[in-house]
Amino acid sequence: MSAYDELMAHQHETEVLGHVAMRLSWDQETVMPRGAAEQRAEEMAVMEGLLHRRRTDPRLAEWLAVAEAPDAAGEASLRHIRRDVARAQRVPARLASELARVTSMAQGHWAAARAADDFAAFAPVLARVVDLKREEAQAVADGGDPYDALLDDFEPGATADRLSEMFGALRPRLRDLRDRVLGAPGGPEALGGRFDEAAQLRLSAELATAFGYDMARGRIDRAVHPFSSGGGQDVRITTRTDPADPFNCLYSTIHEVGHAAYEQAIRPAYRFTPLGRGVSMGVHESQSRIYENQLGRSRAFTSWLHGRMEAAFGPLGMDAEAFYGTVNRLHRGHIRTEADEVQYNLHVLLRFDLEREMIAGRLAPADLEAAWNDRFEADFGYRPAGAAQGCLQDVHWSVGLFGYFPTYTLGNVYAGCLDAALRRDVPDLDAALAEGDPSPATRWLRDNVQVHGGLYRPREVIARAIGGDPSEAPLLDYLEAKFGDIYGL
Ligand code: ZN
Repeated sequence: MSAYDELMAHQHETEVLGHVAMRLSWDQETVMPRGAAEQRAEEMAVMEGLLHRRRTDPRLAEWLAVAEAPDAAGEASLRHIRRDVARAQRVPARLASELARVTSMAQGHWAAARAADDFAAFAPVLARVVDLKREEAQAVADGGDPYDALLDDFEPGATADRLSEMFGALRPRLRDLRDRVLGAPGGPEALGGRFDEAAQLRLSAELATAFGYDMARGRIDRAVHPFSSGGGQDVRITTRTDPADPFNCLYSTIHEVGHAAYEQAIRPAYRFTPLGRGVSMGVHESQSRIYENQLGRSRAFTSWLHGRMEAAFGPLGMDAEAFYGTVNRLHRGHIRTEADEVQYNLHVLLRFDLEREMIAGRLAPADLEAAWNDRFEADFGYRPAGAAQGCLQDVHWSVGLFGYFPTYTLGNVYAGCLDAALRRDVPDLDAALAEGDPSPATRWLRDNVQVHGGLYRPREVIARAIGGDPSEAPLLDYLEAKFGDIYGL
């Protein structure tokens, strides 16, 4: 066997085990018996240890030194493996296990502090996590920018400077749009009433299928926080229901279907190779967001959904046009995950700037709450009432996820670019959407983005799909046109 073949055989088994580990997590979040927590923790710890040994196997470097790829897909696989190996080699084993230990403990402290609305109780724990992440970032950066090294974990090739330029252009126009919308008289009404939860689940399954989710290779279950999990022939999603808010269930489902459809569409030849999964968090989020927002919350699609909602729940007391406004209604709030299309990115930009300051050592974790509240007030015009509504609302930092938040907004920016290109290439899309048929769009996304998996670099796969350089301009133009229209600005 050649070095390349040996390497790929090793990688194949690692990928298979990775899929098994993912299914253990899925099971834990959905159907695992309550009493099984301790046993499952042991099962997952052993799997993680096994995976870690395989990913840091000394033979990897030997194979990589002489491996010759037979084709472009092989080259791309080698690029992924080389990157992961270099990364693993730069992080000392002591630091890796200390990070795993501290972050698993920190998550519990974070949950308790959030429940008690008490940032001071969490601050020393956060300081410990930030110290370790700074150490890791410096080790991985190898002389480069530490924050970029963390970002690279989720968005290979992205740099904070480039994102900062993009986000700097977004922030003033989003603030201005938000102010004009919330200052406009009238505006759409919120949805009122109670909505049968079984009917919500039936309608969400119908939407999932309409958006191209292959139920023969997937399934929908309920979980506290919606997520998608798996790849290839087994990609599962979860959703949740709230009797007062059917949009939560329906749009969470469409969002997760965007992630799942991406995984399902990747070329079967890439299965169990580094190319067999979505290429980055930003590209992944571009798929979920365009399904959810540019398609699912469009005037054309909501005109069809209005009829399906009335069939499922009875009269809504509004016509299709009013319903379109209701689906897209802006409201004041503190919580990122509940934010609308206009305000969502302001929440993310705040986190991006603050986490960069912490990793650079310019913001002490003890001062995070004050810095958060000041920045929140500058962007939203009011202050969080407490830390649970402010800097303790997200789990990410407690589990060591630094460099992750910006991929949410990058995903929205990419979704904006893809939507503009899609509308150019499929001019009669709205006619199909108005019939409840997004397939011309999902087919375009599958052929231009999803099928490639990890073949191209993240920014490159978007650039190829849109035929140019990605930028924030299409997203801003889309938001200003859409909300200017709904609110009569
Ligand atoms: Zn997502």
